[in-house]
Parts: sequence; structure tokens; C-alpha cells
Amino acid sequence: MGLFDRIKKAFSAEPEKETPVEQDQATPETPVESDATPVESQAPAETAAAEKTETDEPASLATEDDSETVSPLDTPTAAPVNSEPEPEPEPEPEPEPEPEPEPEPEPEPVEASAVTEESDAIEEVPETEAVTGDMQAAETKKYDDGLEKSRLTFGQRLNALFANFRSVDEAFFDDVEEMLIEADVGYEIAMKIADELRDEVKLRNVKKPEAVSQAIVEKLVDLYGQEGQAEDNQLHFAPQGELTVFLFVGVNGAGKTTSIGKFAHQLEKAGKKVLLAAGDTFRAGAIEQLQEWGRRDNVPVVASAAGSDPASVVYDAVKRAKEEQFDILLVDTAGRLQNNVNLMKELEKVKRIITREVPAAPQEVLLVLDATTGQNALVQAKQFKQTTDVTGIVLTKLDGSAKGGIVLAVRTELHLPVKMVGLGEKMNDLQLFDPNRFVYGLFKDIIVGDGPQSDLDTDVSQAIK
Ligand code: GDP
Repeated sequence: MGLFDRIKKAFSAEPEKETPVEQDQATPETPVESDATPVESQAPAETAAAEKTETDEPASLATEDDSETVSPLDTPTAAPVNSEPEPEPEPEPEPEPEPEPEPEPEPEPVEASAVTEESDAIEEVPETEAVTGDMQAAETKKYDDGLEKSRLTFGQRLNALFANFRSVDEAFFDDVEEMLIEADVGYEIAMKIADELRDEVKLRNVKKPEAVSQAIVEKLVDLYGQEGQAEDNQLHFAPQGELTVFLFVGVNGAGKTTSIGKFAHQLEKAGKKVLLAAGDTFRAGAIEQLQEWGRRDNVPVVASAAGSDPASVVYDAVKRAKEEQFDILLVDTAGRLQNNVNLMKELEKVKRIITREVPAAPQEVLLVLDATTGQNALVQAKQFKQTTDVTGIVLTKLDGSAKGGIVLAVRTELHLPVKMVGLGEKMNDLQLFDPNRFVYGLFKDIIVGDGPQSDLDTDVSQAIK
């Protein structure tokens, strides 16, 4: 069964309808992701800080501690985020602190969600099931709401495709390709879908627009499923009692500081002792912005003066985290232009210092991408990937974007796992990535009616036990 059919089954309250021909027998049992497209050789979106928006009431989550709907977006006043050009870093004095410690044998990182899944497997208590069901429905709704713009836009594109539909001919396949490219699913996927569609149309003699559009989406979903077979979407933490360090990288305006703020809030709520490091010492206001998040989250922040060496800030933070036994250190970094060699080198230096002090760290290097920038986000990711060991993507601002299809391109072209998604402006709208919910949220009008069921809990607290 392809991913399309599995999702359809999982999310449908009703028994499955007959589905069109299954070509992808090989489709994995696991969820998936995709990847990207052609390259516009363009500079990173120094996207201006999106306007601060006041939060709406939470869409659904009566069951979560979400009740504090502090808008993560009304970030500190002091933060005229992202509008500044990046100053050239000065040649750096090595801030080298202490002598090299002996590297210790690395502990195996814990796969938190595996733990969660195990505990979810207990089935006897009906009450728990009810609560779990509510939470799952709430999380599905977050995905639905966050992806609404992308879904509607995709639907409109399909409608437009069929508005002038006369017959399934070569011109039509060209239009399909164009429509998919515009939907940001990636060039490779667009070509592949159009080719497969040609074959399938011949094979099944499909002629009706509804059947053709169903076949397009089915192929998108199944292809996405196949490409993600070996993908690791989980966040990895150090074993209990040891320090976990996550490094956040990405261009200015992508949402690093905001994502760190939301993530810290959720970790803190889940009972973790969290420390933040203000490693973005370049951007005007970035330090104050993180400090404001720290105040709001009730989490300490290690910072130094603007313009100081980020590596020494990070060193201080790691030292404090170890001495005071913090569970998790989240490190912000400058929104470096990915083609700026000096800045990339500096990022490497920051990472080296972390690893020197905590050999198993950083457990994650998370590249934050702004979904609204579409193909530019892919270009950025490709460049970061060349110079940094990125372990996963945090895809932000999906709620404000019609470009959710980018997730497909990220998987098939970048082969980097999306690990978290920003689906809205509230604290808990930063969610663990669930490929099935995502795909359902993107295409649910076409996949089948409603009826949320997914066995994954995407609340961030579920990643850390
Ligand atoms: P940084 O330069 O990478 O640290 O970016 P910031 O964290 O300052 O974020 C830039 C802007 O994007 C801010 O106005 C954030 O409020 C906004 N933002 C970040 N993540 C999201 C998200 O998931 N949804 C929405 N709607 N806005 C976001």
C-alpha cells in the first residue's frame, strides 16, 4: 500500500474507497519527506522580520498547556530584527579558553520519540485513550490550520489547471508540470509526476478531471513516501542526566530566535532545565530579543556585548550548563549569509567548541528555513548543507505561507529531515514534524473527508522524556 492509501485510511473515519491503481508497491511503511528544486542563484532572503501579529485565541488545544498564548511574535521591542546588513566579522582573536579535555566515549543519543511510542502503546485505560484522542485531534487541527493557505492555494491551482481542460494531451502534461513547479513541490518531483501520469493515464485510460487530479495527488504523496524511507525525523537528546546542545543556524529573519523561544518554553513546561546562548552577536537587537524570550520563558540566557566573539559566548554557556547541570542548551547563531565564508567558518568554530566541551554535542544542528521564501529556502539549505553538518530542518511560518509544498522538495532534493514546523504564532504552534499529518493537511480536500486520527503526538514535550 502506498503512502497515499495509508494516509487516506489513517485519516478517514470511513472505510476506504476504491483507490486508483497502485503502482508503487514498493512504497515504504514509514512516513516520508521530500526535497527541492531548481536553483535561483539568489542571495538569502534577509526577510524582514515579519510583522508582529497579535495572537488569535488558540484554535483548539484545550488539552494542552497552550493556554498561555503569549504571542511568540510580539518579540521584544528592542528587536528591529533582520533589517541590518551583516557587518563583516573582524579577524578573530582565538577566545580559546581552557585546555582540551580528554574526549570521552560518546553516549548513545536517546531517541526520544521511540520512548514515547512505546509508552503510547499501552492500551488498557479508556480515559487515557480519550485524552490522547483529543490531543491527537488538536494536533491534527494545528496542521490543518497551519497549512490552510497552502492547501487552498494548491486547490486553486488544480482548479485553474482543469478550468481549461479539454483532454489529456501533451499540452495538459506541460500544464501539470508548470502547476506543480509553481506549487513549490520541486522541479524533480514535477517532472516525475508528469511522466508517471502519462503512463498511468494510458494504462488506466483516465479521462475525467477528478480522476486525473486524484492521480496527481496520489502520486505526489506516494513519491514523498518513497523518498522518505530512510529519513530520521526525530529530535535526538543526550541520555538522562547529560547535557543536550542544539545549535540553530540559518539566515536572518528565518525564525531562529523565535523558534528557540517557543522551543525553550515547551521544554521548560515539560520540566527540563533549559539554558539559552545568545550567539548572534552581529545582528542589532538579537541579544535583547533572546533575553526577552528568556524572561518570558523563565529561562536564563548567557549573553555578552554586541559585536563580541560568539565562540566565547558559546563557551561560557556550555561551561555554565555543565557546572549547573542544565538539561538542554539552545544556541542561537548569527543569521549569516550562507555565502559568506568568514561567517561560515565562525559557525564551524562555534560547533568545534561545543564538541570539545561536550563530545556528543551538538546533538542537533537545526537549519531554520522560512517557508514563505519557497525556492530560496532550498537554495539556502543547499549552501548550508555544503559547509555545515546540518542534522535537520525547522520549517517556520507555514501558517503565513502558501508554499507548504516545499516540504516535498526538501525531502526529495535536499535529503534533510524536517524535524519541527512552525504552524502559527502561539508558543505551542512549534510542533514536531509529522509527515503524515503534514501531507494530510496539504491535500486533505483531495485525499478524503475529515476524521483526524494519527498515532503520533507532535507536541514538542513528547520528544523529550
Ligand atoms: P531570526 O533572525 O532567524 O532569529 O528570526 P526571528 O526569530 O527574529 O523571526 C523573524 C520573524 O519571523 C519574527 O517577526 C517572528 O515573529 C516571525 N516568525 C518566526 N517563526 C514564525 C512562525 O512559525 N509563524 C509566523 N507566523 N511567524 C514566525
